[in-house]
Amino acid sequence: MRILSGIQPSGRLHLGNYFGMMKRMIHYQNNHDLFCFIVNLHALTSVFDGKTLKENTQGAVADFLALGLDPTRCTFWVQSDVPIVTELLWYLSNHTPLGLLERCTSYKDKVDKGLSASHGLFSYPVLMAADMLLFQAERIPVGKDQKQHLEIARDIAFKFNHVYGETFVIPAPDIENDLALIPGLDGQKMSKSYGNTIDIFAPEKEIHKKVMSIKTDSKGVNEPKDPDTCLLYQLYKLFVSEEKCALMADKLKSGGYGYGDVKKDLANEIMGTFSPLREKREKIFADKKYLLEVMHLGAKKAQTTALKTIETVRQKVGVI
Ligand code: ADP
Repeated sequence: MRILSGIQPSGRLHLGNYFGMMKRMIHYQNNHDLFCFIVNLHALTSVFDGKTLKENTQGAVADFLALGLDPTRCTFWVQSDVPIVTELLWYLSNHTPLGLLERCTSYKDKVDKGLSASHGLFSYPVLMAADMLLFQAERIPVGKDQKQHLEIARDIAFKFNHVYGETFVIPAPDIENDLALIPGLDGQKMSKSYGNTIDIFAPEKEIHKKVMSIKTDSKGVNEPKDPDTCLLYQLYKLFVSEEKCALMADKLKSGGYGYGDVKKDLANEIMGTFSPLREKREKIFADKKYLLEVMHLGAKKAQTTALKTIETVRQKVGVI
């Protein structure tokens, strides 16, 4: 089965990205035809400094490699290295009802949060549709925040297929309920655009400080606490076994265990998971020659698949 998903290099990658998408993608490389990419063209809707975008893009590549993605076992590339996707974006744009985009909650949220209401931001879901359809992806592992965008991609694919005959595979979302929406420091969706993230490879001091700033209610150490409404518990759960998780739930419910204690435990779990990989990540990031080699290999593989689709599409729409 062909599985595809991408990540924006609009900032450092965070726990929401890791659990919602990256960890699952890395797992899929073992038994699926995996297409994984860094969507730097998407990030252009919010990053307006070339140097930063380039650095973030290489950083995201290094993150994936350090976390275990093997570029020889999947197709791993940077979106802009296969620019055909922007050509497909145009063909698809002409089969995208405006109303579909106007209903997009992600667009409205981003504008509410202060991003400029540009045409790029508005048509973001059409570029996303082009990403999926160009590579004929069957399954798309994402967090719940992308559900609506996936429905739009499916609608566009149905419409195009209806007009020109069977052309695109209709992609299906792959959303895991437990990982659907990882909360950030403030309890909203953790997102680079919202400034509420804990970054995977942030310096330990920063991780510690951020964990200490996670929102809790004002219950004192001795009071019983409800795990279901405890943000710290929701994040802790992601890292530990079921047994360890049940133990923490008991401690919270019985009282005598303060939020400060849970914060320490959570910080330890985060560091225990990512700190051993920090050095590897730094080494990869510093080795620009290796990074370029990986990106070049990925672009070549992705281009081969993309060309097959675009040639069919060009014929169907009548430009060749
Ligand atoms: P961001 O919102 O931080 O810019 P992206 O749009 O680059 O993240 O999303 C990359 C992938 O990570 C997508 O599959 C998205 O669904 C997933 N993801 C991002 N934030 C979260 C979250 N808080 N919980 C679950 N998955 C998430």
